[in-house]
Amino acid sequence: MDKEKNSILIVDDQKTTIMVLKNILGGEYRVFTTENGQDALKAAERFKPDVILLDILMMDINGYTVLAELRNSEITRDIPVIFITSLNDVEDEEKGLSLGAADYITKPFSPEIVRLRIQNQIRMLNQLQTSNELSMLDQLTQLPNRRSFEMRINTEWAVAQREKKPISILMIDLDKFKNYNDTYGHLQGDIALKTTAGIFGKTLKRPADFAARWGGEEFIVLLPNTDSHGALEIAEKIRGNVEDMEIPSADMQKSNITVSIGVNTHCHDQNTFVINDFISGADKALYDAKDAGRNRVCQYSGT
Ligand code: GH3
Ligand code: MG
Ligand code: MG
Repeated sequence: MDKEKNSILIVDDQKTTIMVLKNILGGEYRVFTTENGQDALKAAERFKPDVILLDILMMDINGYTVLAELRNSEITRDIPVIFITSLNDVEDEEKGLSLGAADYITKPFSPEIVRLRIQNQIRMLNQLQTSNELSMLDQLTQLPNRRSFEMRINTEWAVAQREKKPISILMIDLDKFKNYNDTYGHLQGDIALKTTAGIFGKTLKRPADFAARWGGEEFIVLLPNTDSHGALEIAEKIRGNVEDMEIPSADMQKSNITVSIGVNTHCHDQNTFVINDFISGADKALYDAKDAGRNRVCQYSGT
């Protein structure tokens, strides 16, 4: 329960202020407190709070310096900081905001204002998180998109090299999908794409396996720590499961989809290989599968 609460770090050298703020915020948030700037920097790195409420006039280092230090660290750089201070000149507020504070509250403060200003920051954080997540997802199929795949393959490629493990890739393309759209309509085509996307979750068992929508009616699957034998087996399972799947449709018409799949495997001893060649090898194998009659799996032969 506590884990799901957002967290706030309160930094103030007056115990009474800390107590008051804790009373206001303790019910809604997980609250950390420190009474000086040095401890604030340590606590920020350690607990990574969602928001920091920061006093300006403190005994050791002042709030402006604390803010500058927070901005210098990779870990704490993006944490929104709200100054809460008895400095109530316009110049002070300007200085705080120009240093990158997210907001500025003057003492004496109203509990409701503190609560609302923090809520604003949390709401903005949540919006940012949602939009970051959305930008990695394909909207139609809810699978990771191509960008997300490219990030993942970079990471897994490096791991495979370092750990000297094979890594495989499947390039999957729906067969004669243009005909499908022409026959059943584009909306039904979208349903077929979504249903096909659902097959990956059912077929791939290892947590590291990663399926994405590559674009249009093409999907791509990354299989870390999988040799060519294992990759062919998984590709064949996917092919069979797509062939067997039932695609829902409003008028209960039965429709079928098949896929062609190109497989490529990289072994750590092939040092000259680069990621682009790895992907285009799978693409070539996919075209071999199309040429050979579709609804089949082909492996990249190296030529
Ligand atoms: P092949 O077996 O050679 O792959 O034939 P194909 O018809 O599948 O290939 P082609 O590249 O000629 O056509 C791809 C079709 O996929 C055409 C396009 O309208 C359809 N398509 C791509 N993206 C979407 C989508 O998001 N929704 C729908 N409904 N159709 C899409
Ligand atoms: Mg295609
Ligand atoms: Mg196609």
